[in-house]
Amino acid sequence: EATEGGGIQVYSPHLPSAGGRSAVLSMESGLARALERREFELHFQPLVDAAGGQVVTAEALLRWNSAALGRRSPAEFIPLLERSGLIVPVGDWVLREACRQAAAWDGVRVAVNLSARQFMGGGLAESVRRALAESGLPAERLELEITESLMMQSPERAVRLLSELKRTGVRVVLDDFGTGFSNLSYLHTFPLDGLKIDRSFVVALGQSERAGSIIAAIVQMGHALGLDVVAEGIETSEQHGALRRLGVPVLQGYLFGRPQARWRP
Ligand code: C2E
Ligand code: MG
Ligand code: MG
Ligand code: MG
Repeated sequence: EATEGGGIQVYSPHLPSAGGRSAVLSMESGLARALERREFELHFQPLVDAAGGQVVTAEALLRWNSAALGRRSPAEFIPLLERSGLIVPVGDWVLREACRQAAAWDGVRVAVNLSARQFMGGGLAESVRRALAESGLPAERLELEITESLMMQSPERAVRLLSELKRTGVRVVLDDFGTGFSNLSYLHTFPLDGLKIDRSFVVALGQSERAGSIIAAIVQMGHALGLDVVAEGIETSEQHGALRRLGVPVLQGYLFGRPQARWRP
């Protein structure tokens, strides 16, 4: 309890509750051994061509099946991997495993999410080259997803790193587009191949006219800049219809397929 005037202050609003704290601690110690215990797995979710319905890409999504804690959501454990720096070896595993599996697919690309630590830490282009060489996956079939906030941390460095990555021949797309502090100067200074419109705009479609206008504007801008445009998080046929009318060429969401293990396009 907090006391006034010189007592011992044990109350702190910044610390999680004892239960929350020990849950985080046990997740952290579990994560430290998860790679060697082979508790990670990749699930894959399709991105489909809106006109023809073919699968063009599959996004790799990390899953952790902890022996002690059961299945945990990426929303919980990815921030912990980032904080501890474990995201670097785990991210490297994701890259290699995604390329290894995708090499057996017939022409379908694989998309891999990158975190800031992995991107800014150095050695990423080397990891990418190694994952490609080891798997035999052609570089143009690997797509890396980065976020605006990741690039904001150090824009000049990000441009250099992106250019280095692009020289390996992979594609780079901006994920969750529209949710960061969108800075449109990225779109001409960064060598990007595509934009993924965040799910929140798709959700807003049913609620506001403006959401549709924003999506239409992003599609036009993407077209003018030669960027591929994808919308994520499509769950209903109403959303599907609206996005087709708005001209979004590639779609991803539960309506087309949930992320799943042992995926074959
Ligand atoms: P993200 O990259 O934006 O991935 C899309 C998330 O939305 C995934 O959640 C996916 O399962 C979910 N999703 C897909 N379609 C729908 C839909 O129709 N409705 C709804 N409600 N959700 C949908 P997931 O797998 O829980 O991953 C969450 C986030 O964790 C990802 O967001 C990504 O930022 C991060 N993440 C996942 N795997 C990795 C990884 O290997 N490395 C890194 N650095 N981050 C990862
Ligand atoms: Mg993603
Ligand atoms: Mg996304
Ligand atoms: Mg997202």
